[in-house]
Amino acid sequence: MERVQVFKFGGASVRDAEGVRNVGRIVQMHAGKPLVVVVSAMDKTTNELELLAKLAEAGNESDALGQFNRIRRFHHTVLDALLHNGDTLAMEHLNLVLDDLQRTVQGVLLLRDFPNRIFDRMMAYGELMSSILLAAHLKSLNLPAVWMDARELILTDSTWRSAEVIWPQTITQIQAEIGPILNDGQIAVVQGFIGRSADGHTTTLGREGSDYTASILASALEAERVTIWKDVPGVMSGDPKRYPKALKIDQLSYEQAVEMTFFGASVIHPKTIKPLQNLGIPLHVNSFQAPANAGTVIHSTQLNQPRLPVVILHKTQQALITLRPLDLSFMDESLLRRVLMEVQSVGLQLSLVQTSAISLTLCVNDRAEHIQEFIGVVSSQFHAEAEQEMELLSMLYAEAEQVELPPTARLVQRQNGHYHFVLPRHK
Ligand code: ASP
Ligand code: MG
Repeated sequence: MERVQVFKFGGASVRDAEGVRNVGRIVQMHAGKPLVVVVSAMDKTTNELELLAKLAEAGNESDALGQFNRIRRFHHTVLDALLHNGDTLAMEHLNLVLDDLQRTVQGVLLLRDFPNRIFDRMMAYGELMSSILLAAHLKSLNLPAVWMDARELILTDSTWRSAEVIWPQTITQIQAEIGPILNDGQIAVVQGFIGRSADGHTTTLGREGSDYTASILASALEAERVTIWKDVPGVMSGDPKRYPKALKIDQLSYEQAVEMTFFGASVIHPKTIKPLQNLGIPLHVNSFQAPANAGTVIHSTQLNQPRLPVVILHKTQQALITLRPLDLSFMDESLLRRVLMEVQSVGLQLSLVQTSAISLTLCVNDRAEHIQEFIGVVSSQFHAEAEQEMELLSMLYAEAEQVELPPTARLVQRQNGHYHFVLPRHK
């Protein structure tokens, strides 16, 4: 049998009925080949669910139910527009999911308690609904689509909001559940972002985690390729809204892609690359608006590092912490070790580190509580200063003459042909 392809459609691609129809056309273009389709929640539904969760947690009954009704109406309107009431099974399925969401909200309101695992359960409804709509639409086009429940496929631990995948069981489940569907010539339609813990609760893989779901499925099925369909022509050398001259990058090595996601490229979820790299499965980033155009391919290239244009990235929500030993001692290995251990134990994430004889500067994610805690624990040995609301500006693959030092830069670093600047956030 031909090897399967995995397509992932994000929220922007299924933002309304026309978006779902467009996805239908793309799937139709590939009909007849083994295909798994992963879909995110429609448009900003996950944010709407977060708001719903907040209102329910606050015990704000009328606003919570109002918010629930908005979410319900939105999905019903799209289903009606797509199917003109022609598929009662899909309608019943959608209602079942919505009833379940409503009961969850009422439970939270009633108990005035909101355990973390219920939060994940609530976030999952966006993908459950979008996948029902998409599968129904594909069927209406006479495509052999089968709705599948990702919670039967992706098995995880119970880490709230960003569960870790339990790989061996997940691979077994995916092969056992999706294998036969593909052998029958059917198209599996699966929710991104969600999974299930060993004790049977719904879990989520972290915001924007649907890309990762596609990568997990591709890895278990040893797919021929993964395609992420986006609202941009491919991976760009900068945010086109900010840099109108940004270029589309034709190809990247896995390493380059990982590096770009680390320094703030948001086109792909950072966890997506590794499983694909392990098996050498190429990842394509294509435009759902111009599906016939070549996008970007991320793969193991012959020349391991394709030549790239200068790539400009912004990693937002950063803070800069500067430490100076109180007793003016050198910033030596043992002090460095102490600091890095504290960084880890309070849960800060490092973006850059710079040492000098008597100081150490850390660029970390801007989480006020963590920063306070960190400064508290190191203050017995260091004078510590934090600057918040910063961003990390990176220019990758640049030559010195292409780089201009931003006047507001507070930290400058050059490394492997990459230039990094930490500066106050661009407003
Ligand atoms: N719907 C989820 C989110 O918005 C997952 C995703 O879109 O990938 O975070
Ligand atoms: Mg999304």
